[in-house]
Amino acid sequence: MARTDASELADRVRAGDRRALAQAITLIESNRLQDRPAARILLETLVPHSGKSFRIAISGTPGVGKSTFIERLGNYLIDLGHKVAVLAVDPSSAISGGSILGDKTRMERLAQRPEAFIRPSPAGETLGGVARRTRETMLAVEAAGFDIVLVETVGVGQSESTVSKMTDMFLLLLLPGGGDELQGIKRGIVELADLILVNKADGTMQLPAERSATDYRNALMFMHPRIPTWEVPVEICSSLSGEQMAHIWALICRFRENGEAGGFIARARAEQAGNWMWNEVSIGLTERLKADPAVTARAAALEQAVRANQVSPTSAADELMDIFVGDRQ
Ligand code: GDP
Repeated sequence: MARTDASELADRVRAGDRRALAQAITLIESNRLQDRPAARILLETLVPHSGKSFRIAISGTPGVGKSTFIERLGNYLIDLGHKVAVLAVDPSSAISGGSILGDKTRMERLAQRPEAFIRPSPAGETLGGVARRTRETMLAVEAAGFDIVLVETVGVGQSESTVSKMTDMFLLLLLPGGGDELQGIKRGIVELADLILVNKADGTMQLPAERSATDYRNALMFMHPRIPTWEVPVEICSSLSGEQMAHIWALICRFRENGEAGGFIARARAEQAGNWMWNEVSIGLTERLKADPAVTARAAALEQAVRANQVSPTSAADELMDIFVGDRQ
């Protein structure tokens, strides 16, 4: 794509053209080297118009009700006049080649509304790759005028901490039951949470959900708060009935006001952007190093020697970096 085409595409994205937005994201997600310059121009043009949304991570184990919750919350927010983008970070798509998250059929009504934009996780990428693309996609949807971005992720491990590094607030969905054990949910994930919802609090699950919420509240008292001025609320929620949505949204707004007034959100975003730059540096450097002819000429033999235990990984890595740096001098 030519330079002028990329900036024209950016203009259409900013004007709220959905097809242009989808096209822009396809360009952002493209793994083809020849697409990178156009993607970069596109992002450079969009970045000054990004950042105006509130970014919310939504996490929880498969089956906890994330997509049902997002369908509810998303529709509720649109009724309030917001524009809602739903992005997904699903590292399993790297293995399966297809995304289980962000699937439009799972958020049927939301997907049909013009004020919503749903984008599944980019497939066939590592977690690092998925996160990188999702971050850039987030800038694009913000420039297109979406003022609430929901980033959905599976609550099974590393992806949570990755997603918490690109969002303003982290919402964790849990299931009723489990008592004082946090249901095998890693403690590290609970520590990321700014709001915990015990979902499926309806019918026969209502009472167990209330009991669980009390248990979790007690368990949280022994944890270090992520933000000193914010005591993490634990609430019950029925995504099926949607009864508590107004209350949940009020809590989210309170967190946002608190974070904005205390400068916490701005500081966190600045730090995230700085980290993102260094992350890009290490990914970019590795890519360039691996594409360097002198490095590739030596790499296979060195790797073999490392595998055979003849050379230590550290000194082999040093040698490859020396070759790369030497090439540049
Ligand atoms: P996800 O894998 O976390 O996205 O979970 P889903 O949203 O796909 O929900 C998994 C199942 O739980 C579906 O059958 C939903 O209908 C059901 N479910 C989700 N939320 C609730 C709820 O609040 N109450 C009840 N009773 N069922 C729910």
